[in-house]
Amino acid sequence: MSTPPKLTPQARAAALEKAKVSRQERAFIKASLKAGDVFLSDVLDMAQKNEAVGKMRVADLLSSLSGVGKVRAQSIMEKIGISPTRRIQGLGVHQLLALRKEFSIPTFRGKLFVLSGPGGVGKSTVAKELRKNSDFWVSISATTREPRANEIEGIDYKFLSNEEFDREIAEDNFLEWAAFAGSRYGSPRRPVETALASGRNVLLEIEIAGARQVKQHAPEAILVFLEPPSWEELVGRLEGRATDSPERRAQRLLLAQEELAAASFFDVVITNDQVSKVVDRLLSLA
Ligand code: ADP
Ligand code: 5GP
Repeated sequence: MSTPPKLTPQARAAALEKAKVSRQERAFIKASLKAGDVFLSDVLDMAQKNEAVGKMRVADLLSSLSGVGKVRAQSIMEKIGISPTRRIQGLGVHQLLALRKEFSIPTFRGKLFVLSGPGGVGKSTVAKELRKNSDFWVSISATTREPRANEIEGIDYKFLSNEEFDREIAEDNFLEWAAFAGSRYGSPRRPVETALASGRNVLLEIEIAGARQVKQHAPEAILVFLEPPSWEELVGRLEGRATDSPERRAQRLLLAQEELAAASFFDVVITNDQVSKVVDRLLSLA
């Protein structure tokens, strides 16, 4: 076998530099996928023109998607028939189509709505009203938080232990999940998929990190941000609710400031000055 040609020191340095830039580019893409700033379809498009992106392993690409992880990435690849070491540039037309289909969730017929906003703005009040007065299917989340005095298991939340929540994550049973104010919250995947597939419009009442994950998996989801009429009104609602300890309320107000800053990421912003008006607006988007 002939030996490969010896590189000059300059050519070797240039090759090393090129490899370093490619690695940085791939790391940037993975971070952007995790943050929800780019979607799988964007990366597949980029891979056609950019060699560094084309050389990314499909397993790395999928497991970088927020909420996917190695186990689900592997099972999707098995389902589509993509070998574990395949790079994006080596994917066939059918495999590319199958991947795009997997992550655009096109079989959903109902519309997927996400309602987010700062704690105390009135999200659960609006969700309850919508459940009562429309045929929206409102998802019941799982949480590791302790139930409040007025909350009922299976109606307000499915209250899980940390171990139970870990198991749900390991079994890939959440469409999205996030940590918030010291507890974890997640939307059970199967009931949402079933409701959407049966043509129901679905509402997820979740915090902002979860909303970003949903947008990444289902770009067609309509992200609605509920804002308070004023900061003073928000403080008043949080205090008026009287379901949290003073420490927890203070923690939630701090978080609320960060949450308000996220409004621009959402498709629609609705001011909750009157619950019935918010419900009408949501129905008009359905
Ligand atoms: P979130 O689910 O966003 O944390 P809640 O639905 O628990 O908020 O509402 C917080 C408090 O604000 C509750 O006491 C609720 O009754 C009250 N509230 C909700 N919407 C309105 C509104 N439009 N006007 C006045 N009070 C409201
Ligand atoms: P609370 O403890 O006040 O009921 O909820 C705290 C925050 O968690 C709220 O912003 C609520 O919207 C959010 N939340 C509730 N369920 C879920 C869920 O399934 N996923 C995510 N990401 N957030 C949730």
